[in-house]
Amino acid sequence: MPVATPPTGTGGSEARPTPTAQPTLAAAFDDLDQFRAALRPEFAGDVDLFLSATRYNIEVTLRFNPDGSATLTGRERIRYANQQAFALDDIYLMLWPNGGAQYLSRMKLGRVTVAGSEVQPVMESDDLAARLPLPAPLAPDESVDLSAEFTVEAFPGVDANGVARFGLTNGILLAPTFYPLIPRIVDGEWQTMPAPPGGDTTNSDTALYVWRVTAPSDLVIVATGTVVASEQSGDTQTQTLVTGPMRDLALVVGPLQLTQRTVDGIALNAYVLEQNAVFAEKMLDYAEGQVKTLEAGVGPYPFAELDLVDTPGPAGIEYPGEVFIGIGDGSDFFEVATVHEVGHQWFYSLIGDDQLMEPWLDEAAATYTEVLYSENIHGPRAARGMLDFFWDALSFTDQPDLPIGRPVADYADYGTIVYLKGALFFDALRREMGDETFFAFLHNYYDAYRYGFATSKDFQAVAEQTCACDLGALFDLWVYNGGTVTKP
Ligand SMILES: [Zn+2]
Repeated sequence: MPVATPPTGTGGSEARPTPTAQPTLAAAFDDLDQFRAALRPEFAGDVDLFLSATRYNIEVTLRFNPDGSATLTGRERIRYANQQAFALDDIYLMLWPNGGAQYLSRMKLGRVTVAGSEVQPVMESDDLAARLPLPAPLAPDESVDLSAEFTVEAFPGVDANGVARFGLTNGILLAPTFYPLIPRIVDGEWQTMPAPPGGDTTNSDTALYVWRVTAPSDLVIVATGTVVASEQSGDTQTQTLVTGPMRDLALVVGPLQLTQRTVDGIALNAYVLEQNAVFAEKMLDYAEGQVKTLEAGVGPYPFAELDLVDTPGPAGIEYPGEVFIGIGDGSDFFEVATVHEVGHQWFYSLIGDDQLMEPWLDEAAATYTEVLYSENIHGPRAARGMLDFFWDALSFTDQPDLPIGRPVADYADYGTIVYLKGALFFDALRREMGDETFFAFLHNYYDAYRYGFATSKDFQAVAEQTCACDLGALFDLWVYNGGTVTKP
């Protein structure tokens, strides 16, 4: 098990920077224009689609402790608009650092306010969810301001044999969704369920973020969004960032080196450990190939930046605007992992879906983007080889007839069915529709659901509108009911 080494000179218990040195949290998210900096100029107008979206303003300070752990101390202010057709009696905050085995961390809430008055959160699901009772029902289209103080303790132990996505490894803190996050409302109910093992964890609606990170100045901060201000003070540094319309944030801090490349006006940032410096250009090659493949095949990447960060441990995990890549020994899987996680910027980050209940919509799609990349970069023969490999894998699994469209928790062999058979479904759909219609469908799907949320039925509806055909039997066989599928 790798143990994180606290950087020298940053242990102990320094006080947080004096809050009076910063603009107040309350002021910071009113200015809609500031968020445009996180988008490519031609997409800066997308911010105007989110006038009433949830806004977050977060300040967080990171300290590495002498015992090898790390502490995040933060506060946030949220403006939440009720976009449901009914009044809300309460609002939930998800405390994902309490999210079970994938999180080597514990989160505690401090003072929480709703509309300026302190409230007592009701903790549920082993402290994963905090219910905040509202003083008065929140009517449709009305907004309410919330604030919360929080601390997160993060522990070492992230490694390639484990399942952790949050914690410390090689002196790096991995901290995705380190702050209280408002979940979605699905079918009239707050979605606060714990994540099953093996799959992704969070579902959240697109929001606008302005946030500030303070961390030791001898380390590198990798954070979702675009840096709009940075300052040094003693042995700490502070960065202020804004995002475009984003579902959530990820934060990584560690002894990383930046190599940058601009592709189609997008800054691709590869952050790698010193011993992996030789792989930085390859990481950028893979990311560039995939960005170009998917901009042509699906739709534009609207954000100004995409961060790729070397995270020993997880082979790859996607977060909006930032992907974790386990470079490992730089073998073939490094390319596949990079391409797959970059693919998720289109499938989940931009086109949202329920990662717990209908994970094929992002996992099968991201796996199929590996095939599109391979076809574009390495040629049709290489792409066919990948599909052959997926068919072989399907022939070795115990229940190859399972449909791809079930929740994560339903599968014993989640990877083979949802990822690989799921990618084979995309190939079957492409064969059924023909190339021209298939790519028109992907563009239509992107246009309809970019920044939104799609269900399997939504996906099918856009496909059927595009081909002007009935795909019911194909979707029943592959997605909903299952059955024997055969290699073409
Ligand atoms: Zn994936």
